[in-house]
Amino acid sequence: MSAVPVEPVETLEAYAAATASCTRCRLAEGRTQVVFGAGNPHADLMFVGEAPGFHEDKQGVPFVGQAGKLLERLLGGVGLWRDDVYIANVLKCRPPGNRDPQQDEIEACEPHLFRQIELIEPKVIATLGNFATKLLSGRPLGITRVHGQGQALTIAGRSVLLEPLYHPAAALYTPALLTVLEADFARLPELMGHGAQPAAVEPEPEPEPAVAAPAEQLGLF
Ligand code: URA
Repeated sequence: MSAVPVEPVETLEAYAAATASCTRCRLAEGRTQVVFGAGNPHADLMFVGEAPGFHEDKQGVPFVGQAGKLLERLLGGVGLWRDDVYIANVLKCRPPGNRDPQQDEIEACEPHLFRQIELIEPKVIATLGNFATKLLSGRPLGITRVHGQGQALTIAGRSVLLEPLYHPAAALYTPALLTVLEADFARLPELMGHGAQPAAVEPEPEPEPAVAAPAEQLGLF
């Protein structure tokens, strides 16, 4: 990991350009390109997924594979298009073989995500899956526990409502989750309209199960 500081650039576009040559972690070696993010740079609603996969790495755009198609369908279901929102990931570069992000990679990439949030100033951040949820909530609770439970937070100096959602890929693996994901998505327009609300009733933190079920090992649940 490099100690190179994040550039203090003022627009999202300029920040994306500065990030294109990032070498803050080992993923720089295997990537085709940095997948910075895409969408409306002033969006009220921002999605944060996990990391680019094969297609994202080739095209330089997040969520263009199967999970992306489902994300678009879910957006359409609440009257939104990709261009209405901003879509980014915890990691901006593809992990080899689509393995899970490693902790040092998340820490190296985190300043990019926080700077994006600062520049976009979304009202609502919907985290997709465990990695984004744990990083931005600052809590170790998994997505099965917290999905659909909004949390009012200060991120990058601004009040935002964090809305944890299952990762669309989880609903591709486990179709029963699609109904849950649709129900959680249905709350988004109202949350955007209302901006940051007081936190929903927060569950007591409980440790994650010691032995992860196979699906949990995919990092999706
Ligand atoms: N594509 C992305 O860009 N991110 C994910 O988390 C999954 C697929």
